[in-house]
Amino acid sequence: MDDLDAVGYKVTTLGKRELVSVPWRTYYHRDGKPTRLPGDPDSVRSYLARGFSLEPPARPSGGDIGVKCSKCGFVAKSAFGLQAHMRKHERESKKEER
Ligand SMILES: [Zn+2]
Repeated sequence: MDDLDAVGYKVTTLGKRELVSVPWRTYYHRDGKPTRLPGDPDSVRSYLARGFSLEPPARPSGGDIGVKCSKCGFVAKSAFGLQAHMRKHERESKKEER
């Protein structure tokens, strides 16, 4: 993954001295790490092609905002709350098996 960073920075420092006029924006790695890179249309396209995204990827768990149940879409306030909610599904699926 660090190789991608190196390539991206090499592109931005080559050629253009007018970096000031290039709008910078925040890109996100697939693992959620934010990176500041030039935001002109050509750069955006090439960074997106390399697997960056302009929106932070959804957190799998542990977020403060809310955790969504993958089975029914219920949003719990915390990972702990979701755990309690999932126990309900576990009970339901056990019932169905028997
Ligand atoms: Zn659920």
